[in-house]
Amino acid sequence: MPIGREQIEQIYEQVVRRNPGELEFHQAVKEVLETLTPVLTKYPQFAEHKIIQRICEPERQIIFRVPWQDDRGEVQINRGFRVQFNSVLGPYKGGLRFHPSVLLGTIKFLGFEQIFKNALTGMPIGGAKGGSDFDPKGRSDDEVMRFCQSFMTELHRHLGEYTDVPAGDIGVGAREIGYLFGQYKRMTNRYESAVLTGKSPHWGGALVRKEATGYGAVYFVDEMLKTRGESFEGKVCVVSGSGNVAIYTIEKILELGGRVVACSDSGGVIYHERGIDLDTVKQLKEVERKRISVYADLHKDAKYIPGGSVWDIPCQVAMPSATQNELDGDAARRLVTNGCIAVGEGANMPTTPEGVRIFQEAKILYAPGKAANAGGVATSALEMQQNASRDAWSFEHTERRLHEIMTEIHRACYETSVEFGSPGNYVLGANIVGFTRVAEAMVAFGLI
Ligand code: NDP
Repeated sequence: MPIGREQIEQIYEQVVRRNPGELEFHQAVKEVLETLTPVLTKYPQFAEHKIIQRICEPERQIIFRVPWQDDRGEVQINRGFRVQFNSVLGPYKGGLRFHPSVLLGTIKFLGFEQIFKNALTGMPIGGAKGGSDFDPKGRSDDEVMRFCQSFMTELHRHLGEYTDVPAGDIGVGAREIGYLFGQYKRMTNRYESAVLTGKSPHWGGALVRKEATGYGAVYFVDEMLKTRGESFEGKVCVVSGSGNVAIYTIEKILELGGRVVACSDSGGVIYHERGIDLDTVKQLKEVERKRISVYADLHKDAKYIPGGSVWDIPCQVAMPSATQNELDGDAARRLVTNGCIAVGEGANMPTTPEGVRIFQEAKILYAPGKAANAGGVATSALEMQQNASRDAWSFEHTERRLHEIMTEIHRACYETSVEFGSPGNYVLGANIVGFTRVAEAMVAFGLI
């Protein structure tokens, strides 16, 4: 018998009871479950096999102590996590986040989203996420190295090319991946390139991986705009954050003819009416690791708004690219009132449920992160392919593959939204496509 809305609500309540206090995890589960009734009606075997209940329970959760010494010789203790959520489609895959706000519930929400995102890419990868409450900000390279070595000393026994392949996320870029890979190699005595992605291209990293999440999100939004006869050409855009995803989102928007007038970091917003100078942002963030406020010292016609919201600035396209729940109902209302026609999530779950509802009611184009930012993990899977064949592809070839993958994800989400009676509802389309691919494999594998 297919299960209806009431049973889905009961399953959700059980998830909340069994995972107390993990609010972001509850939010991510609710968003997926709310869209699944039609697919459970179409495939009653998913209910028989209790796929939803099983999918909400991680296959394995690892929590560990990470002791390390700072530059003054003082002992520091952090907590490490790896949540291996689902491996029916391939080895666990998903980034590591180093940020003081990281709790188990944060990693679980990200790992849960990752299952469906990875399925959407069509690549053979399962879903996982990890990280630590360690804050790399303000730490010396030596301190970051010692932390990464201690983190990997424990984590290495749970990883492997065919088991679990982490990558970067907030606070984990090429520097951290380098230290983590070095320690993995030392612990295992194996040059196992495909055990981590986001590596430097000098030692096995894929070209385009650094750019992939931002570029991919812009490709996805470009496909959405096409469904309404629109494009990026001449559009005023705002991008939140100024990290990896934000920088390459800005770069691709500029290439497609848009103008980005604002970006931010956790301290405030830069508004530059004639257009953000991307070279300055790259120099400040990728090279000097400085605050975005310094941008206004270098460009006298730009304005720095301490503690401001990037969503107050009128735009036609908004790309949240910083962190979860950074765009609430009020911000969504302001964007709609100011004439925004499209929102593409580079970050994971950046819009609150109320914000999503407002976008959907206003019938503007809205791309959820699990579809729009899947280009990062898809290119990680391309990095694994290159490592497995000991090959290195050109930038152009890899970017072409990324573009094809994002176009295909858009097509699948859009066509599924039409098939299930909600044309242009990308939340429903993405959840149903991702869930169905995972659920079919779970049924096929039996009760494991
Ligand atoms: P980075 O660490 O490179 O940059 C994060 C940016 O967001 C920084 O500007 C940071 O500001 C800001 N930020 C982070 N946390 C907060 C916060 N709590 N409040 C306000 N601003 C904040 O991370 P990424 O660019 O890699 O990741 C950004 C988002 O994209 C995340 O949601 C991540 O999960 C998602 N994502 C990333 C992928 C990737 O390939 N890197 C792949 C798919 C999704 P500050 O420096 O001041 O903290």
